[in-house]
Amino acid sequence: MSAELFDITIIGSGPAGLYGAFYAGMRGMKTKILDSLPELGGQLVTLYPEKWVYDVGGFQKILAKDLAKSLIGQAMTFEPTVCLAEKVTSVKIHDETGTRSFEICTDKGSVHLTKTLVLTAGIGAFKPKRLDAPGVREFEGNGVYYFVKEKKIFHDKSILIVGGGDSAVDWSLNLLDIARSITLIHRRDQFRAHEENVRELMNSSVRVMTFHELKSVRGNGRPEEAVVFDNRSLEETTLDVDCVLLNIGFHADLGPIKEWGLDLDKGGIKVNYRMETNIKGIFAAGDVASHPGKLKLISTGFGEVATAVNFAKNFIDPNAKVYPGHSSDMRELSARKRQN
Ligand SMILES: Cc1cc2nc3c(=O)[nH]c(=O)nc-3n(C[C@H](O)[C@H](O)[C@H](O)COP(=O)(O)OP(=O)(O)OC[C@H]3O[C@@H](n4cnc5c(N)ncnc54)[C@H](O)[C@@H]3O)c2cc1C
Repeated sequence: MSAELFDITIIGSGPAGLYGAFYAGMRGMKTKILDSLPELGGQLVTLYPEKWVYDVGGFQKILAKDLAKSLIGQAMTFEPTVCLAEKVTSVKIHDETGTRSFEICTDKGSVHLTKTLVLTAGIGAFKPKRLDAPGVREFEGNGVYYFVKEKKIFHDKSILIVGGGDSAVDWSLNLLDIARSITLIHRRDQFRAHEENVRELMNSSVRVMTFHELKSVRGNGRPEEAVVFDNRSLEETTLDVDCVLLNIGFHADLGPIKEWGLDLDKGGIKVNYRMETNIKGIFAAGDVASHPGKLKLISTGFGEVATAVNFAKNFIDPNAKVYPGHSSDMRELSARKRQN
């Protein structure tokens, strides 16, 4: 075992993981964050960066990407080690020396050593569900998108949105102020979205084509046309489009984490009131953690990860209090940066 040993390794850099990294730094722990994505922020930056979030304490409303930026800034206060684009695959427990440590392996082939682990892996490593219609792959990232990273790329564009869930309906409404035109196609006539938003959609200028599916995307260098068909009559319609936004859901899977011998419950990882799993030294918080009364919200994830980190601190140093005291009583927080 030659890799550097950390006090705490946080797997997943969504809101829970980022806040956990800050908290661990505040508790003087040598901290590492690992994420399979190439950037920090989890669902906030990957799934809905340009949506408003209204229910995080301290902000009347904040764009998801700005919340992520603020969390990243706070998480970096104590300069944790950050490893991105590395999917955690396996963990080995070492108890040989009498002091437990964990050896984490990733799909990059690297090994990370840590005394405790906090799993804030959310809904797992996620990938959008892809559509295999002709032209889709060809224009992916260049007119065909699965996520809205930046609203401005849709400015003054004729957009075809595919899907019938919250994302498809929300983006149809959300892009209306900047798009030239929006057509939404959905393969059924029932939407899996908030009723009020569906009502707003039906009263908006979005052209809604139910029982329609995407057949192909055509263009020269960029999409110019999309062929859609009525799945009852098979009648085809050609639409002039500049971009296609595919919001047909995503696969999220805890993948190899499920094989670690952790007790699972409703697809999540079972934790006790300390946010501790059945494996001593491994904690879980945020969307991935399962306990009675669980609410999958950003705000609850913050509380859960603070609990996990404080108990992790006590796990590696039983003399350390679980309760950290008030941060407002700590003088010069930034001066308490980890000294390596
Ligand atoms: C469209 C939408 C709107 C939402 N709006 C709100 C809202 O208004 N208010 C609210 O409170 N909540 C909202 N949510 C829910 C909120 O985003 C989640 O509750 C929150 O992101 C959970 O945070 P987390 O840190 O637990 O996990 P996530 O944000 O899911 O982050 C988990 C991270 O773990 C990483 N990961 C997973 N597996 C591995 C692995 N094996 N190796 C390495 N890394 C891994 C992932 O790549 C990801 O970055 C919304 C969700 C969606 C989809």
